[in-house]
Amino acid sequence: MYKIAVLPGDGIGKEVMDATLDVLDSLSIELEYEFGEAGDECKEKNGKALPQKTIDIVKKTDACLFGAAGETAADVIVRLRREMDLFANLRPIKSYPGTNALFDNLDFIIVRENTEGMYVGNEDWVKDEEGDIIGANAEQIMTKAASERICSYAFEYAKKNARKKVTGVHKANVLKKTDGLFKESFYNIAENYKNEIEAEDYYVDATAMYLLTRPETFDVIVTTNLFGDILSDEGAGLVGGLGLIPSANIGEERALFEPVHGSAPDITGKRLANPTAMILSAIMMLEYLNENKAAEILNKAILKVLSEGKIVTEDLGGNSTTSEMTIAIKNEIDAQQK
Ligand code: ATP
Repeated sequence: MYKIAVLPGDGIGKEVMDATLDVLDSLSIELEYEFGEAGDECKEKNGKALPQKTIDIVKKTDACLFGAAGETAADVIVRLRREMDLFANLRPIKSYPGTNALFDNLDFIIVRENTEGMYVGNEDWVKDEEGDIIGANAEQIMTKAASERICSYAFEYAKKNARKKVTGVHKANVLKKTDGLFKESFYNIAENYKNEIEAEDYYVDATAMYLLTRPETFDVIVTTNLFGDILSDEGAGLVGGLGLIPSANIGEERALFEPVHGSAPDITGKRLANPTAMILSAIMMLEYLNENKAAEILNKAILKVLSEGKIVTEDLGGNSTTSEMTIAIKNEIDAQQK
């Protein structure tokens, strides 16, 4: 029996979470849910987007499923990542059949540093003598410890998952000290794997182009916080949109799983939300818990529904609602478990 913290959050976060819990309930695996509040609605109600009570729930469970937060996303998810030292953000980019992917042969993963870089949130206004704002500064923090930790994670991930190459992405030609240190850390770690895993590095601008011109050549990408955020949305575009990209935030002792998409206020309440990204995030959670059989069953079920393309949401070219697609996935699970 695993204890899972469930934070549905705002907008379609709640809709895709309902769908995901529904499919998880069809699997023969025992999960006990502890629900927590977080996000815009929670802030309106309790004055805080991430109350201590929610943090306590997450800290005493085995893993956390998170839906999405709207305007308060930074206060919620960035803080949760930092509070629990969830240093590695994994974003697999995979082509699924029947999904209008620009490329049908992609299977790489972006490993993003999750705790520092430009996202430390240290910003300041620059004011003139009258006190009027004339500019703003942001601090980028890079430590050798965090850079080596994320690069080690990427190489270990490559080794465990039979990946052949790790690409380090940075902007060390301009950000000579911060990104320079990241690049140096990357090669320090690569040295330990030189007989088994290929290492290469690119500037982020070149990577953005290569992701469009030859994305199939990537295997594992390891990069800094800001660049990882941007490149993973580019990756989502390559394989059919945000509705399909899951993510995992992994720490030494805890982990949180969430779709890459946000609360999507434009489609909230319209029954249009594609539950795939949240369900794939739950599959990553099952793998993290070593529930590989359950993960495999769920993965097969969702692949079947996607490849048939009949009962899928509008973003995938279908005309089914979130719950119709969910029922189709549950039926596939039942068929496998018979
Ligand atoms: P937020 O402010 O919470 O980040 P957003 O709308 O700015 O929300 P996303 O939620 O990440 O950003 O998504 C951008 C757009 O992609 C949405 O407006 C929506 O149209 C589409 N989209 C995102 N996720 C899904 C999904 N699961 N199913 C269908 N469409 C989606």
